[in-house]
Amino acid sequence: MRQKRVLVIGAGIGGLAAAGALHRQGVEVAVYERSSELGEVGAGLQLGPNAVKVLNALGLEEKLRPLAAEPVDILSLAWDDAHLRMREPLKATSVARYGARYLTAHRADVHRLLQDLVPEAGIHLGARCLRVAASGKGAVAHFADGREIEADAIIGADGIHSVVRESLFGPSPARFTQQVAWRAMVPIDCVPRRVGPGGSVALDPQDYVGWIGPNGHVICYPIRGGAVYNLFIGHVSEQWVEESWTAPSTLADILEAHAGWNEALLEMLSHVKDTYKWGIYDRDPLPQWTRGAITLAGDAAHPMMPTLAQGAAITLEDSYAVARHLAGAADPQVALKAYEAERLTRARKVQLQARQQFQNNRMVPPPPPLSRDWIFEHDATREPAAV
Ligand SMILES: Cc1cc2nc3c(=O)[nH]c(=O)nc-3n(C[C@H](O)[C@H](O)[C@H](O)COP(=O)(O)OP(=O)(O)OC[C@H]3O[C@@H](n4cnc5c(N)ncnc54)[C@H](O)[C@@H]3O)c2cc1C
Repeated sequence: MRQKRVLVIGAGIGGLAAAGALHRQGVEVAVYERSSELGEVGAGLQLGPNAVKVLNALGLEEKLRPLAAEPVDILSLAWDDAHLRMREPLKATSVARYGARYLTAHRADVHRLLQDLVPEAGIHLGARCLRVAASGKGAVAHFADGREIEADAIIGADGIHSVVRESLFGPSPARFTQQVAWRAMVPIDCVPRRVGPGGSVALDPQDYVGWIGPNGHVICYPIRGGAVYNLFIGHVSEQWVEESWTAPSTLADILEAHAGWNEALLEMLSHVKDTYKWGIYDRDPLPQWTRGAITLAGDAAHPMMPTLAQGAAITLEDSYAVARHLAGAADPQVALKAYEAERLTRARKVQLQARQQFQNNRMVPPPPPLSRDWIFEHDATREPAAV
């Protein structure tokens, strides 16, 4: 059988994971990335057990663990008086319950490890894809510098604004979710040790803590071996006024949006130095990801709200699955259809639950969190059981 050649558009977490998984299985693969340098934003990333299973299968879990953290308990606190809404063990139970650890890491660390899976010669920077199309038995990608590159299959891992998706299915507007988010980090010793009425809640800096209020939630977890505390500060807002979807912001903006929130939280937030603000967008689930020899993976296929912290996790699952299907297949087009059949329903369900969780968080009082057990239990590294 002739060696298959696969093109991946985009060198984010999804594109590098797909390329790494394909390369490990002996498939010839090349990644084309529009940026002139590889990198990731300076923010944390939760890696639920379903994501860690993929990293493990790629041989990266052991390498990541010293760089990551493994939160001890997961706690939910009320935004105003910090009373305890829920506490559950995470570190002690995750492997037994879900089959893998729950890790939290810096995005750049995960990205770098994935990059190491792909031969340097296989990553092409400064290559902006303009469109893709069918070509003979395969597909062709057109680039801004005039290049046209043919392959047996193309994977569009080019994020929420995917040009690959637009080539396949036409333009469609992204939906502003009424959520903006600041991302920031503080030194781990800024974490308050006792909060809540009469100091009734003990906090361990190695815990995962969510402060939940009707107009937002502040999600905190350790990263980088537990030395740094990552903050995801989500806030409900009717309008996103910036033209860009990311904008530099300030501590004053964060504090203004959190007037009246718990004092201990505000004190911790006051240590924030650099911060960026995101307008959070998603899209309605697509009915289809694949046309002929071209498919989508990650945010290109299913951009979702961050409320379940599953965007990158489902992206990693896609990446492993698409490589699994392509590696063994005589016909890449059949393989891509089988990949879509395996992945689309699950990704859609997670996308919709992320929206529902956002609505639930806004209720007063908020109902208990929707179960993520079915998400965490999944193992995308294995062939799905026949039904
Ligand atoms: C605030 C926030 C917090 C989040 N927290 C979590 C979390 O804790 N856990 C989690 O699992 N997920 C989280 N997510 C979701 C996660 O970040 C994304 O789902 C994930 O990064 C998607 O990866 P991707 O590779 O599909 O896309 P991207 O990371 O967007 O990568 C796309 C790549 O394609 C490149 N590209 C784009 N267009 C072109 C083109 N035309 N030609 C060539 N290259 C191109 C881009 O430069 C980029 O490198 C969060 C998201 C947000 C917004």
